[in-house]
Amino acid sequence: MENNIRNFRLDDVASAAKMINVSMHFDTYIQDEEARIAFCYWYVYSNLSEATEAFTYELDGKCVGFIFANHFGDTPLFDEKTIDELSAQYKYVMDKQGEKEYVKKYHAHLEELSKYIGNNQKGQIVLFGVEPGLQRQGIGTTLLKHLSSLHNHERYFVMTDSDCNFTFYEKNHFELLVQGDVELETEVMTKTLSTYVYSRTLFYKDNVQPNDYLVRANANEEIIAWAITSRNLVEHARQIHNLSPICTAALGRSMSAALMMGNNLKNEQDVLTLQFNGNGPMRGLVVSSNNKGEVKGYTKVTDVIMPPNAARHLNVGGAIGEGTLTVIRDYGLKDPYVSTIELQTGEIAEDLTYYFASSEQTPSVVALGVLMNKDVTVKRAGGLIVQLLPNCPEESITKLERNLRKLYALTDLLDEGMTPEDMLTFVLEGFDVNITEKMPVQFKCNCSKERSEQVLISIGKKELEKLRDEDHKISLNCQFCGSHYDFDENDINELISQID
Ligand code: ZN
Repeated sequence: MENNIRNFRLDDVASAAKMINVSMHFDTYIQDEEARIAFCYWYVYSNLSEATEAFTYELDGKCVGFIFANHFGDTPLFDEKTIDELSAQYKYVMDKQGEKEYVKKYHAHLEELSKYIGNNQKGQIVLFGVEPGLQRQGIGTTLLKHLSSLHNHERYFVMTDSDCNFTFYEKNHFELLVQGDVELETEVMTKTLSTYVYSRTLFYKDNVQPNDYLVRANANEEIIAWAITSRNLVEHARQIHNLSPICTAALGRSMSAALMMGNNLKNEQDVLTLQFNGNGPMRGLVVSSNNKGEVKGYTKVTDVIMPPNAARHLNVGGAIGEGTLTVIRDYGLKDPYVSTIELQTGEIAEDLTYYFASSEQTPSVVALGVLMNKDVTVKRAGGLIVQLLPNCPEESITKLERNLRKLYALTDLLDEGMTPEDMLTFVLEGFDVNITEKMPVQFKCNCSKERSEQVLISIGKKELEKLRDEDHKISLNCQFCGSHYDFDENDINELISQID
């Protein structure tokens, strides 16, 4: 898709003017068609005169989308004289109509809003449009991605309003800085326009598939955080258990969380287990991890298929149903530390957030995501956990809450190609983030033929003799990894001899 991007040319102005005429609803302001078209041309030219970068999305040789941006301090793309000359005839048509009160009022309103923009901005998106019939097909996102590739990690803002497709910015993780309403009396009608100022740090990364790993970080000694990318290990689990997409999402989210939680265990032998039990068709799942970056897990039913939930996502909560989450920390002592809570939604992240608050008295943010490809393999998986340390001051909590509002769906961040470090930078923007640990993670089961033998020996001589005489063989399956361990009559006799 990136190949469709080229530099904006002055002969693209006609296409851009047509696009904004329709998508910005100028017909509700100016009835006279000639005047309206003149206004559209003039509008494009005047925004272009500020632009230091302007790109077109081209389809079959035609400009069907464009973005103008102003990177502060750079020289405008087109010289002022050329633009003035080209826009003069449209200005002439407009001037014939006289200056409009509502235009003045609108600009005064924008001036007022601009006080809230802040001085950390590196640039502004000044005009952005996509052919109305081709919207919501990724053209706008591709243009934005192109801009991001030139200004990775720089903050840009944009002013938009309810006449435009402002939700585009929310979908692309822009943060709403300020919103205001203005009442405009046009030739055609009186209308209230809501205006919005959005801002975000642009982010760009090529579509790389990194190895699975987790990072641990702290910020200002007030916050501790983990983030993980786990696509490969979730795909591995999907394959060995032959999981449906919902089961893959449920297990993937849980495994990502268990790995991050396992990182907090003190000793290598310690084991953390999460058991979700529910009355839904999946009935639940079990995952176990340690502090060496190893995790294993299974869902009780593997082939659950359900319609998407209200948010049109995989209905993990519905598949697990109502029930409980039990967290077991086994430190190798006589009694493991066990804590059980009621499931909140069964969506995993919300349940863990509740667990941290109620059982560990630790305010936490848990975000987990698994994104599937159309061919039902795993495209992306990962997550993050952010926890407030007891000394976290109120202003930091407010700052964190502001950052978290940008975090609509973690899968979108993963889909942008964000690494664990990027996710933490995104969520902890404005904090002094210090990465303290980075380690590879993997799906690893500790079952073995020897361990199976120990299990069989533990059931006793009598029981083994009975199995030998009735079935002539014993097959053990590991629920966690699907490995089979077969024992024939000779093997069983060997085990019995060990008991004597
Ligand atoms: Zn196993």
